[in-house]
Amino acid sequence: MYVFTNKSQQKTLPTNNIYAIVSRGKIISAKEANMARPIIEVKNFVKKYGSFEAVKNISFDVAEGSIFAFLGPNGAGKSTTINTLCTIFDKTSGELLIDGKDVSREKNAVRQSIGVVFQDSTLDKKMTIEENLKMHCVFYKVPKKEVEERINFVLNLVDLKEWRKKPVSTLSGGMTRRVEIARGLIHYPKVLFLDEPTTGLDPQTRNHVWEYVLRLQKEKNITIFLTTHYMDEAEHADDVAIIDHGEIIAHNSPFGLKKQYTKDRAYITTTNAIKFEELLTQQGITYETRERYHRIDVEDNAKFLYVLAECRTDITDMELRKGTLNDVFLDITGREIREGGNS
Ligand code: ADP
Repeated sequence: MYVFTNKSQQKTLPTNNIYAIVSRGKIISAKEANMARPIIEVKNFVKKYGSFEAVKNISFDVAEGSIFAFLGPNGAGKSTTINTLCTIFDKTSGELLIDGKDVSREKNAVRQSIGVVFQDSTLDKKMTIEENLKMHCVFYKVPKKEVEERINFVLNLVDLKEWRKKPVSTLSGGMTRRVEIARGLIHYPKVLFLDEPTTGLDPQTRNHVWEYVLRLQKEKNITIFLTTHYMDEAEHADDVAIIDHGEIIAHNSPFGLKKQYTKDRAYITTTNAIKFEELLTQQGITYETRERYHRIDVEDNAKFLYVLAECRTDITDMELRKGTLNDVFLDITGREIREGGNS
Protein backbone atom coordinates (compact mmCIF):
# COMPACT_ATOMS: atom_id res chain seq x y z
CA MET A 1 0.00 0.00 0.00
CA TYR A 2 1.22 3.51 -0.81
CA VAL A 3 -0.01 6.32 1.40
CA PHE A 4 0.46 10.08 1.35
CA THR A 5 0.89 11.51 4.80
CA ASN A 6 2.63 14.33 6.63
CA LYS A 7 5.66 14.27 8.91
CA SER A 8 3.76 14.78 12.16
CA GLN A 9 1.71 11.64 11.54
CA GLN A 10 4.65 9.54 10.45
CA LYS A 11 5.38 7.98 13.84
CA THR A 12 1.85 6.76 14.38
CA LEU A 13 1.64 4.91 11.08
CA PRO A 14 1.89 1.14 10.77
CA THR A 15 5.34 0.21 9.46
CA ASN A 16 4.52 -2.41 6.85
CA ASN A 17 3.50 -0.01 4.09
CA ILE A 18 5.44 2.44 1.95
CA TYR A 19 4.67 6.09 2.58
CA ALA A 20 5.35 9.26 0.66
CA ILE A 21 5.78 11.88 3.32
CA VAL A 22 4.59 15.40 2.60
CA SER A 23 6.62 18.07 4.29
CA ARG A 24 5.71 21.76 3.80
CA GLY A 25 3.82 20.88 0.67
CA LYS A 26 6.81 18.98 -0.77
CA ILE A 27 6.70 15.23 -1.36
CA ILE A 28 9.78 13.54 0.02
CA SER A 29 10.62 10.41 -1.97
CA ALA A 30 9.19 7.14 -0.71
CA LYS A 31 12.74 5.80 -0.21
CA GLU A 32 13.72 8.79 1.89
CA ALA A 33 10.46 8.61 3.80
CA ASN A 34 10.91 4.93 4.45
CA MET A 35 14.50 5.45 5.65
CA ALA A 36 13.35 8.08 8.10
CA ARG A 37 10.74 5.88 9.76
CA PRO A 38 11.48 4.83 13.35
CA ILE A 39 12.63 1.22 13.49
CA ILE A 40 12.95 1.27 17.29
CA GLU A 41 10.19 2.91 19.31
CA VAL A 42 10.40 3.16 23.09
CA LYS A 43 7.56 4.78 25.01
CA ASN A 44 7.47 5.31 28.78
CA PHE A 45 9.82 2.40 29.44
CA VAL A 46 10.27 1.56 33.13
CA LYS A 47 12.42 -1.27 34.51
CA LYS A 48 12.54 -2.07 38.19
CA TYR A 49 14.74 -4.60 39.99
CA GLY A 50 12.63 -5.21 43.10
CA SER A 51 11.76 -1.75 44.33
CA PHE A 52 14.80 -0.15 42.64
CA GLU A 53 13.90 1.75 39.48
CA ALA A 54 16.89 1.26 37.15
CA VAL A 55 15.18 2.87 34.12
CA LYS A 56 12.70 5.65 34.83
CA ASN A 57 10.04 6.22 32.20
CA ILE A 58 12.21 6.86 29.14
CA SER A 59 10.96 7.46 25.58
CA PHE A 60 12.90 7.68 22.33
CA ASP A 61 12.83 6.60 18.67
CA VAL A 62 15.64 5.39 16.43
CA ALA A 63 15.40 6.14 12.69
CA GLU A 64 15.94 3.24 10.32
CA GLY A 65 19.45 3.12 8.87
CA SER A 66 20.91 5.43 11.52
CA ILE A 67 23.54 4.96 14.22
CA PHE A 68 22.09 5.60 17.66
CA ALA A 69 24.31 5.81 20.74
CA PHE A 70 23.22 5.39 24.32
CA LEU A 71 25.91 7.27 26.22
CA GLY A 72 26.24 7.24 29.98
CA PRO A 73 28.38 6.27 32.96
CA ASN A 74 28.36 2.80 34.51
CA GLY A 75 25.10 2.07 36.29
CA ALA A 76 23.13 4.55 34.15
CA GLY A 77 20.73 1.92 32.78
CA LYS A 78 22.26 1.25 29.33
CA SER A 79 22.56 -2.54 29.61
CA THR A 80 19.12 -2.81 31.19
CA THR A 81 17.63 -0.99 28.18
CA ILE A 82 19.59 -2.89 25.53
CA ASN A 83 18.82 -6.25 27.18
CA THR A 84 15.11 -5.42 27.31
CA LEU A 85 15.10 -4.36 23.65
CA CYS A 86 16.89 -7.62 22.78
CA THR A 87 14.11 -9.62 24.58
CA ILE A 88 16.53 -10.90 27.26
CA PHE A 89 14.95 -8.95 30.17
CA ASP A 90 11.25 -8.26 30.68
CA LYS A 91 10.10 -4.65 31.02
CA THR A 92 8.24 -3.45 34.12
CA SER A 93 6.02 -1.15 32.03
CA GLY A 94 5.94 0.86 28.81
CA GLU A 95 5.98 -0.07 25.16
CA LEU A 96 9.06 -1.19 23.22
CA LEU A 97 8.75 -1.93 19.49
CA ILE A 98 11.33 -3.08 16.97
CA ASP A 99 10.29 -2.88 13.34
CA GLY A 100 6.71 -2.53 14.59
CA LYS A 101 6.91 -5.69 16.71
CA ASP A 102 6.41 -5.71 20.48
CA VAL A 103 9.53 -6.96 22.32
CA SER A 104 7.44 -8.54 25.10
CA ARG A 105 4.69 -10.16 23.06
CA GLU A 106 6.48 -11.01 19.78
CA LYS A 107 9.86 -12.16 21.07
CA ASN A 108 10.61 -14.61 18.26
CA ALA A 109 9.78 -12.13 15.51
CA VAL A 110 11.89 -9.47 17.25
CA ARG A 111 14.81 -11.89 17.59
CA GLN A 112 14.75 -12.51 13.84
CA SER A 113 14.98 -8.74 13.23
CA ILE A 114 17.97 -8.11 15.48
CA GLY A 115 21.63 -9.08 15.81
CA VAL A 116 23.43 -8.66 19.12
CA VAL A 117 27.10 -8.27 19.98
CA PHE A 118 27.61 -8.54 23.74
CA GLN A 119 30.43 -6.97 25.75
CA ASP A 120 31.97 -10.34 26.54
CA SER A 121 32.71 -12.72 23.70
CA THR A 122 30.24 -15.56 23.37
CA LEU A 123 32.13 -17.32 20.57
CA ASP A 124 33.39 -20.86 21.08
CA LYS A 125 37.14 -20.27 20.99
CA LYS A 126 38.04 -23.87 20.20
CA MET A 127 35.92 -23.82 17.07
CA THR A 128 36.88 -22.15 13.79
CA ILE A 129 35.23 -18.98 12.55
CA GLU A 130 33.27 -21.03 10.03
CA GLU A 131 32.04 -23.51 12.67
CA ASN A 132 30.89 -20.67 14.93
CA LEU A 133 29.00 -19.05 12.06
CA LYS A 134 27.42 -22.36 10.98
CA MET A 135 26.23 -23.00 14.53
CA HIS A 136 24.57 -19.58 14.58
CA CYS A 137 22.86 -20.37 11.26
CA VAL A 138 21.36 -23.49 12.89
CA PHE A 139 20.07 -21.44 15.86
CA TYR A 140 18.47 -18.94 13.51
CA LYS A 141 17.11 -21.60 11.13
CA VAL A 142 18.91 -20.11 8.13
CA PRO A 143 17.90 -22.29 5.13
CA LYS A 144 20.71 -24.82 4.47
CA LYS A 145 21.18 -23.78 0.85
CA GLU A 146 21.81 -20.16 1.91
CA VAL A 147 24.41 -20.86 4.63
CA GLU A 148 27.45 -20.80 2.34
CA GLU A 149 26.41 -17.57 0.62
CA ARG A 150 25.71 -15.84 3.95
CA ILE A 151 29.02 -16.88 5.50
CA ASN A 152 30.84 -15.48 2.47
CA PHE A 153 28.79 -12.29 2.63
CA VAL A 154 29.40 -11.52 6.31
CA LEU A 155 33.09 -12.52 6.25
CA ASN A 156 33.58 -10.26 3.26
CA LEU A 157 31.97 -7.39 5.14
CA VAL A 158 34.42 -7.65 8.03
CA ASP A 159 37.42 -8.62 5.85
CA LEU A 160 38.00 -12.04 7.40
CA LYS A 161 37.49 -14.35 4.43
CA GLU A 162 40.99 -15.82 4.53
CA TRP A 163 40.68 -16.58 8.25
CA ARG A 164 37.56 -18.67 7.86
CA LYS A 165 39.19 -22.01 8.82
CA LYS A 166 41.17 -20.63 11.80
CA PRO A 167 40.16 -21.40 15.39
CA VAL A 168 38.86 -18.28 17.16
CA SER A 169 41.54 -18.79 19.87
CA THR A 170 44.24 -17.78 17.31
CA LEU A 171 42.65 -14.37 16.54
CA SER A 172 43.48 -10.94 18.01
CA GLY A 173 40.92 -9.07 20.16
CA GLY A 174 39.86 -6.83 17.26
CA MET A 175 39.46 -9.76 14.87
CA THR A 176 37.39 -11.66 17.45
CA ARG A 177 35.08 -8.64 17.76
CA ARG A 178 34.75 -8.54 13.97
CA VAL A 179 33.76 -12.24 13.98
CA GLU A 180 31.12 -11.39 16.60
CA ILE A 181 29.81 -8.62 14.34
CA ALA A 182 29.77 -11.03 11.36
CA ARG A 183 27.89 -13.58 13.46
CA GLY A 184 25.41 -10.92 14.60
CA LEU A 185 24.63 -10.21 10.95
CA ILE A 186 24.33 -13.71 9.49
CA HIS A 187 20.55 -13.93 9.80
CA TYR A 188 20.32 -10.55 8.00
CA PRO A 189 18.91 -8.49 10.89
CA LYS A 190 17.55 -4.99 10.40
CA VAL A 191 19.04 -3.74 13.67
CA LEU A 192 22.44 -4.57 15.13
CA PHE A 193 22.84 -4.02 18.88
CA LEU A 194 26.38 -3.43 20.09
CA ASP A 195 26.84 -3.37 23.87
CA GLU A 196 30.04 -1.41 24.60
CA PRO A 197 31.53 -2.68 21.31
CA THR A 198 35.13 -1.62 21.81
CA THR A 199 35.59 -1.85 25.58
CA GLY A 200 38.91 -3.52 26.34
CA LEU A 201 40.35 -2.98 22.84
CA ASP A 202 43.42 -0.80 22.17
CA PRO A 203 42.83 2.54 20.37
CA GLN A 204 44.06 1.28 16.98
CA THR A 205 41.82 -1.79 17.11
CA ARG A 206 38.88 0.35 18.25
CA ASN A 207 39.31 2.52 15.14
CA HIS A 208 39.45 -0.59 13.00
CA VAL A 209 36.24 -2.02 14.46
CA TRP A 210 34.58 1.34 13.86
CA GLU A 211 35.60 1.33 10.19
CA TYR A 212 33.55 -1.85 9.75
CA VAL A 213 30.61 -0.60 11.77
CA LEU A 214 30.41 2.60 9.69
CA ARG A 215 30.77 0.61 6.47
CA LEU A 216 27.90 -1.62 7.49
CA GLN A 217 25.62 1.25 8.23
CA LYS A 218 26.46 3.15 5.04
CA GLU A 219 26.51 0.26 2.59
CA LYS A 220 23.81 -1.98 4.02
CA ASN A 221 21.53 0.57 5.70
CA ILE A 222 21.57 -1.47 8.91
CA THR A 223 20.42 0.40 11.99
CA ILE A 224 23.08 0.34 14.70
CA PHE A 225 22.16 0.76 18.37
CA LEU A 226 25.17 0.97 20.61
CA THR A 227 25.83 1.61 24.26
CA THR A 228 29.04 3.27 25.28
CA HIS A 229 30.75 5.34 27.91
CA TYR A 230 33.35 6.56 25.40
CA MET A 231 32.71 10.10 24.14
CA ASP A 232 34.62 9.60 20.90
CA GLU A 233 32.56 6.52 20.11
CA ALA A 234 29.32 8.45 20.52
CA GLU A 235 30.69 11.05 18.06
CA HIS A 236 30.17 8.50 15.24
CA ALA A 237 26.44 8.38 15.93
CA ASP A 238 23.72 10.28 14.07
CA ASP A 239 21.80 10.54 17.31
CA VAL A 240 22.96 10.40 20.92
CA ALA A 241 20.78 9.89 23.99
CA ILE A 242 22.65 10.69 27.18
CA ILE A 243 21.40 8.56 30.06
CA ASP A 244 22.14 9.10 33.74
CA HIS A 245 20.52 7.45 36.78
CA GLY A 246 17.96 5.76 34.53
CA GLU A 247 16.80 8.96 32.82
CA ILE A 248 17.51 10.42 29.40
CA ILE A 249 18.88 13.84 30.19
CA ALA A 250 19.61 14.95 26.61
CA HIS A 251 18.92 13.61 23.13
CA ASN A 252 20.15 15.11 19.87
CA SER A 253 22.85 14.75 17.22
CA PRO A 254 26.42 15.14 18.59
CA PHE A 255 26.56 18.52 16.82
CA GLY A 256 23.18 19.56 18.25
CA LEU A 257 24.15 18.55 21.78
CA LYS A 258 27.40 20.49 21.64
CA LYS A 259 25.68 23.52 20.16
CA GLN A 260 23.03 23.44 22.89
CA TYR A 261 25.24 22.78 25.91
CA THR A 262 28.80 23.90 25.17
CA LYS A 263 30.68 26.96 24.04
CA ASP A 264 33.57 27.12 21.61
CA ARG A 265 36.54 28.71 23.33
CA ALA A 266 39.47 30.55 21.81
CA TYR A 267 42.85 30.98 23.51
CA ILE A 268 44.66 34.00 22.12
CA THR A 269 48.11 35.43 22.88
CA THR A 270 48.60 39.05 21.82
CA THR A 271 51.30 41.68 22.14
CA ASN A 272 48.67 44.43 22.56
CA ALA A 273 46.30 43.30 25.32
CA ILE A 274 44.78 46.76 25.81
CA LYS A 275 43.61 47.09 22.19
CA PHE A 276 42.42 43.46 22.15
CA GLU A 277 40.36 43.84 25.33
CA GLU A 278 38.88 47.14 24.15
CA LEU A 279 37.67 45.54 20.94
CA LEU A 280 36.30 42.46 22.74
CA THR A 281 34.33 44.68 25.11
CA GLN A 282 33.12 46.85 22.25
CA GLN A 283 31.78 43.73 20.47
CA GLY A 284 30.17 42.41 23.68
CA ILE A 285 32.38 39.30 23.74
CA THR A 286 33.05 37.75 27.16
CA TYR A 287 36.63 36.81 28.03
CA GLU A 288 38.93 36.03 30.90
CA THR A 289 42.51 37.22 31.19
CA ARG A 290 45.20 34.69 32.01
CA GLU A 291 48.91 35.29 32.53
CA ARG A 292 49.91 34.50 28.95
CA TYR A 293 46.67 34.45 27.02
CA HIS A 294 43.04 35.53 26.89
CA ARG A 295 40.29 32.91 27.05
CA ILE A 296 37.35 33.94 24.90
CA ASP A 297 33.84 32.49 24.67
CA VAL A 298 33.12 32.38 20.96
CA GLU A 299 29.38 32.67 20.53
CA ASP A 300 29.19 34.94 17.50
CA ASN A 301 31.79 34.00 14.86
CA ALA A 302 31.38 37.24 12.89
CA LYS A 303 32.11 39.46 15.91
CA PHE A 304 35.07 37.33 16.96
CA LEU A 305 36.54 37.31 13.44
CA TYR A 306 36.18 41.09 13.30
CA VAL A 307 38.28 41.45 16.50
CA LEU A 308 40.86 38.99 15.17
CA ALA A 309 41.14 40.87 11.89
CA GLU A 310 41.60 44.19 13.71
CA CYS A 311 44.35 42.68 15.90
CA ARG A 312 45.95 40.42 13.30
CA THR A 313 49.41 41.99 13.48
CA ASP A 314 49.50 41.66 17.31
CA ILE A 315 48.42 38.03 17.63
CA THR A 316 51.31 35.64 18.24
CA ASP A 317 49.41 32.45 19.07
CA MET A 318 45.88 31.14 18.88
CA GLU A 319 43.90 27.97 19.48
CA LEU A 320 40.20 27.25 19.04
CA ARG A 321 38.69 24.47 21.16
CA LYS A 322 35.32 23.05 20.25
CA GLY A 323 33.02 21.80 23.01
CA THR A 324 33.01 18.00 23.48
CA LEU A 325 30.32 15.53 24.51
CA ASN A 326 32.13 15.34 27.84
CA ASP A 327 31.51 19.10 28.24
CA VAL A 328 27.83 18.40 27.47
CA PHE A 329 27.64 15.79 30.24
CA LEU A 330 29.57 18.06 32.60
CA ASP A 331 27.24 20.98 31.86
CA ILE A 332 24.08 18.93 32.51
CA THR A 333 25.20 16.83 35.49
CA GLY A 334 28.10 18.79 36.97
CA ARG A 335 30.43 15.78 36.76
CA GLU A 336 32.61 13.91 34.28
CA ILE A 337 31.09 10.89 32.59
CA ARG A 338 33.87 8.58 33.81
CA GLU A 339 33.40 9.60 37.46
CA GLY A 340 30.20 7.60 37.60
CA GLY A 341 31.93 4.35 36.66
CA ASN A 342 34.92 2.28 37.43
CA SER A 343 36.08 1.19 33.99
P1 ADP B 1 24.87 0.43 32.69
O1 ADP B 1 24.72 -0.58 31.63
O2 ADP B 1 24.59 1.82 32.23
O3 ADP B 1 26.18 0.33 33.39
P2 ADP B 1 22.86 -1.14 34.11
O4 ADP B 1 21.68 -1.14 33.25
O5 ADP B 1 23.74 -2.36 34.11
O6 ADP B 1 23.73 0.16 33.80
O7 ADP B 1 22.41 -0.88 35.61
C1 ADP B 1 21.50 0.15 35.96
C2 ADP B 1 21.25 0.09 37.45
O8 ADP B 1 20.52 -1.10 37.77
C3 ADP B 1 22.52 0.05 38.30
O9 ADP B 1 22.29 0.80 39.47
C4 ADP B 1 22.68 -1.42 38.62
O10 ADP B 1 23.36 -1.59 39.84
C5 ADP B 1 21.23 -1.88 38.71
N1 ADP B 1 21.08 -3.29 38.33
C6 ADP B 1 21.44 -3.84 37.15
N2 ADP B 1 21.13 -5.15 37.11
C7 ADP B 1 20.55 -5.43 38.30
C8 ADP B 1 19.98 -6.62 38.90
N3 ADP B 1 19.96 -7.76 38.23
N4 ADP B 1 19.48 -6.51 40.14
C9 ADP B 1 19.47 -5.34 40.81
N5 ADP B 1 19.98 -4.18 40.32
C10 ADP B 1 20.50 -4.23 39.09
